[in-house]
Amino acid sequence: MKNILFVASECTPFVKTGGLADVIGSLPQALKQNEGMEVRVILPLYDEISEEWRGQMKYLATFDVPLGWRKQEASIYALEYNQVVYYFISNEYYFTRKGVYGYYDDGERFVFFCQAVIEAIAQLDYKPDVLHAHDWQAGMAVALAKIMNPVEDMKTVITIHNIKYQGIMPLGTFDDFFQLPVEHISGMEWNGMLNCLKSALFHADKITTVSPSYAEEIKDPYYSESLHPLLIERSDDLVGVLNGIDTKDYNPLTDPSLPVNYRSSRASKKANKMEIQEKVGLPIDGEKPLYIIITRLVEQKGLHLVQHILDEFLQEDVQMVILGTGDEEFERYFADAAHRYPDKLATLLTFDEGLARQLYASADFFVMPSKFEPCGLAQLIALQYKTVPIVRETGGLKDTVFPYNEITSDGNGFSFANYNAHDLLTVLRYTLKIYHDRQQWMLLLKNINKGQFSWKDSAREYANMYEQIIPIYA
Ligand code: ADP
Repeated sequence: MKNILFVASECTPFVKTGGLADVIGSLPQALKQNEGMEVRVILPLYDEISEEWRGQMKYLATFDVPLGWRKQEASIYALEYNQVVYYFISNEYYFTRKGVYGYYDDGERFVFFCQAVIEAIAQLDYKPDVLHAHDWQAGMAVALAKIMNPVEDMKTVITIHNIKYQGIMPLGTFDDFFQLPVEHISGMEWNGMLNCLKSALFHADKITTVSPSYAEEIKDPYYSESLHPLLIERSDDLVGVLNGIDTKDYNPLTDPSLPVNYRSSRASKKANKMEIQEKVGLPIDGEKPLYIIITRLVEQKGLHLVQHILDEFLQEDVQMVILGTGDEEFERYFADAAHRYPDKLATLLTFDEGLARQLYASADFFVMPSKFEPCGLAQLIALQYKTVPIVRETGGLKDTVFPYNEITSDGNGFSFANYNAHDLLTVLRYTLKIYHDRQQWMLLLKNINKGQFSWKDSAREYANMYEQIIPIYA
């Protein structure tokens, strides 16, 4: 059996800030069940992780982690959940803080985590064939694995879930973080800075990202956040594998957060809609088309476009709910807009998994006009809850949402190509036309009912990639 160790900074159900957590929380299980791989996951033990989980953890060991000219202590714990073993690295200084990210020393925190992962591998009786790191927070584990070789012939993979975040620090920190000869700086340096993601891209045996379209886009300067030269150079080892979702967990028929469970019935969706309208203080009307946005409130998600056309769109006979947290600019704008349109718009500035699920189950449309989108899981969850996605044609959105065509009745959503607010408004108005045309609407929902975005095919692609790099004798 092949041993694959996932290194990541978040994972459902323990700690989540975005789609990365969904992926790390579901792909290992799919690889185990469908492909027979022994996948384990290693994470930081944040304060965020509840006592309920901590109570189930088994203490394994305490060890020193070298960090430049000093040492820090780390302990490792383990628990098994849904047949997957999870390891947690604890450290009093770096991870006993509120929240997950956003500290001035995030770079140092996750370099420490990566160093601790390399040390932990030596402590465990589980020897990975592949160390598979996810995003910049885990990136240095790839570089250190290559340089320090904790397990003979261990291969490495880095998956880019979002190239915008790279973990960039002054070059001078090299001596504070590592006890390595200076020649290793060149593999870690990019544009005069120490760069965690670049370090992984330089050292990894394979590079993956989370959709085929994004794999192409990040070779282009518009999307690459400056890393295109390296990605072009390594394009033979770069592959886009579409994310899936856990269709057992995101299932409107069994989801315990929903007032009314359903398979595809319109009546149940309406009942959920009326519950949520009451909850968020909008007029109760099951027939009213409901548009939702559930997202981190950051520029990437196309919120400037929404801002631009919100007043115009809210002249229509519609309701909208925005659930999100993030940049103050957006939080303030959408909260203020909800005050201006109390009967049409509700803004909920919170991160609430149960509320998100209720909204997916209540809405008619899910709006996601991203500027860029590596894969996007929210539109997949929306489809799973029979909510029609409206997206911009970029990255994974382009690979999963296909515009509805009235002539051929093909398609599972709506889309527009250019990053332009009026193109969004035009498509939003068009969705209303289809919503009120019962026949077209039924045809569209029929297509959505046929769709499936489980992990099955993607798990096979990952397994094939591991097989390619693991030596035959392993
Ligand atoms: P990203 O990873 O860029 O944030 P994705 O679409 O891949 O975007 O994943 C976002 C995930 O986070 C989805 O599961 C979505 O439902 C969830 N999410 C985003 N904002 C909130 C929120 N305010 N409350 C609850 N869940 C949220």
